Amino acid sequence: MFGGKRELLARGLFWSGATFLLGQLPERDLLLVLNYHRVGNPDDDPFDPGVFSATADQLNEQISYLKRHVSLVTLPEALAFADGTIKEKARRCRVLITFDDGYLDNYEVAFPILRSHGVQGAFFLVTNMVGSCYVPWWDHIAYLIKTGRQRRFCLRYPADLVVDVDENGMTKSLREVLSLYKRPENTDPARFIRELGEEGKGEELPGTLRRFLDWDEAREMIGGGMAIGSHTHSHPVLSQLGPEQQRKELAQSRALLREQLGIEADALAYPVGNTTSFSDQTRQIAREMGYRAAFSFHGGTNLPGITRCYDIKRVGVGDQSWPRFRVQAAVSRFAGRYWP
Ligand SMILES: [Zn+2]
Repeated sequence: MFGGKRELLARGLFWSGATFLLGQLPERDLLLVLNYHRVGNPDDDPFDPGVFSATADQLNEQISYLKRHVSLVTLPEALAFADGTIKEKARRCRVLITFDDGYLDNYEVAFPILRSHGVQGAFFLVTNMVGSCYVPWWDHIAYLIKTGRQRRFCLRYPADLVVDVDENGMTKSLREVLSLYKRPENTDPARFIRELGEEGKGEELPGTLRRFLDWDEAREMIGGGMAIGSHTHSHPVLSQLGPEQQRKELAQSRALLREQLGIEADALAYPVGNTTSFSDQTRQIAREMGYRAAFSFHGGTNLPGITRCYDIKRVGVGDQSWPRFRVQAAVSRFAGRYWP
């Protein structure tokens, strides 16, 4: 799970005390935005383990560490840094904690941890999923494989793949099926899911299990010091839409957040968020629709003066060992670069 050369290097640096020494060096003036999705234990869950960023204990440990070594900031403070209107001149490593998609565990697990530390998290909600039992495709695929009675079977669409859970294990099998789904040749996602269900003999989805936090919970989170932003209305890859549809996604989401929560959503997080999932046009539309800033997800830190407000970089937290998290945080704090 925590393999690879970088992991070994991280462990070496951690145990040699280098992270401690790095922590003594002056801080670089920057904004580091961490991004989480689900919080909890993937072993207790029938859906995609790949969207779990941390367990409750890991999140608690990470926030405690960050509180001691960097300046955790609020969404408004982060936006003021990004657009250059920040008043204070101190050199600080500012870290903003963000969560995408608005899964129910964000309310049940992450919110109490953040509140207990007095730290603000910014939660980006997909407005048509709020309070729903909706199962996104990655979770549906994982559910079908995990509940499947057939341990070995073949998929034929959009290309041949032999799935063998006993031979390859659940994690690898799941990864292979998800990457088959993501192929551009998969132009009929409904067929893909149907055939996966038939071949693997997976169970029907439990239709009544709520999976996303609802408006009451979002209001309670705002009351508890959290910030809420938009992650669009239905989570499309914006660059795949025409300008009218993009406008609709961003406007509808912002209007619902105003109507339900009484807030003017200043910030947007692009779904998927890599460099090809939004365009110059998307940035322009986000500005027109009243967003002051938008967050991407293609890695890196944000330095003063060169941060683009509609492309504030974020780095994902997930599947990191404790030594590696510490090394990454320490390197960012001192060097201004996030070590992948
Ligand atoms: Zn998302």
